[in-house]
Amino acid sequence: MTNQKVISGRTAAATGQRIPVAVLGATGAVGQSFVRLLADHPWFVLAEVAASERSAGKTYGEATRWLEGSLSPDVARLPVTLCDPAHVRSPIVFSALDSSVAGEMERSFAGDGRMVVTNAGNHRMDDDVPIVIPEVNADHLALLDVQRARRGWKGGIVTNGNCASIVIVLALAPLHRAFGVRRIFVTTLQAVSGAGYPGVPSLDILGNVIPYIGGGEEQKIERETAKMLGIFGDGVVSPAPFGVSAQVNRVPVEHGHTACLAVEFERAPSVGDAMSALRDWRSDIADLNLPSAPVEPIVVLEDDERPPQPRRDAGRGNGMTVTVGRLRADPLVHLRLVACGHNTIRGAAGTALLNAELLMARGLVRHEEVAGA
Ligand code: NAP
Repeated sequence: MTNQKVISGRTAAATGQRIPVAVLGATGAVGQSFVRLLADHPWFVLAEVAASERSAGKTYGEATRWLEGSLSPDVARLPVTLCDPAHVRSPIVFSALDSSVAGEMERSFAGDGRMVVTNAGNHRMDDDVPIVIPEVNADHLALLDVQRARRGWKGGIVTNGNCASIVIVLALAPLHRAFGVRRIFVTTLQAVSGAGYPGVPSLDILGNVIPYIGGGEEQKIERETAKMLGIFGDGVVSPAPFGVSAQVNRVPVEHGHTACLAVEFERAPSVGDAMSALRDWRSDIADLNLPSAPVEPIVVLEDDERPPQPRRDAGRGNGMTVTVGRLRADPLVHLRLVACGHNTIRGAAGTALLNAELLMARGLVRHEEVAGA
């Protein structure tokens, strides 16, 4: 790309020159979530949609089995292109690609100078790629300098965690900071939309619970939780020194992952202290007023008879708030709690969008002069 300059989100908003963005894998479940969240975004305009050869050449409306709400006619008319930097020109590229193809495609965009903000798991555990939840570990974005220097890229790759890990990490971050987590046992109840579209066959999941999710879901939760709550210094993220044991379940819920946690700490908190730590926690980006940041990243429910639950809580804060509740003492470790969050918004596209806003706010996105976008 030529004539590159840095532009901030607020400049874009003030001048009316919104930044063109693309969605790779735009036809899938997470891709559709991006398309919904980008409608009327103050800093970004959805300029390009891309997917597989099956969809390329059609309009977005023709290629997509639109799952929720109404699709705007402007977006429905967008042509679907192949996921190739020669066809997709936007400086910011959101990736909702299937993991079977995401790795190489995302590298090709980053190598071409684009900022790739991805949901796919392929690069999450690369040493020089950050997994970021802006409210929790915004400082890990410094890893981008290492990545660019090591790989010779002008662009870069920033990931967000697996849909369940994000919910777990948001609930744990205030507790880890205050009391130091030593080990975690977590059981998840994960919604069917987490498997994409068409996802799990209805005859497998209706009236059923499947205590298995493929693709190494349990290992992802175990590794990513420690990386996101790790410490950045001297060009590396050192994972948090705690152990995580995860058991995942697919449940017949449309949207919203629930995580039941039992946690042991370095300094055992009372239930009241843990509740206060969650309530008093201040996010890393609280002063930035980013467009997609929820007013409350965490809401704590104190009433045991009104515990966090997907149908009632996944949509809280436009799908960006994690609801925590059922805090109580555990007879074996120290504390038990339940956390619930929206998997395709907070657990995927919403956090990715917030990551892109943070990158803009920090002046980390370079792009060509935007003409009439
Ligand atoms: P999905 O519904 O199956 O969508 C997959 C997308 O990838 C579609 O747009 C598809 O395009 C595209 N694609 C597949 N093969 C391709 C190829 N060879 N070349 C280009 N594009 C190709 O999956 P999803 O649930 O949205 O998940 C997308 C990614 O986000 C995955 O990596 C997943 O692990 C991750 N993720 C999902 C969630 C969630 O809650 N669902 C949460 C966090 C992260 P066509 O329509 O043209 O086939």
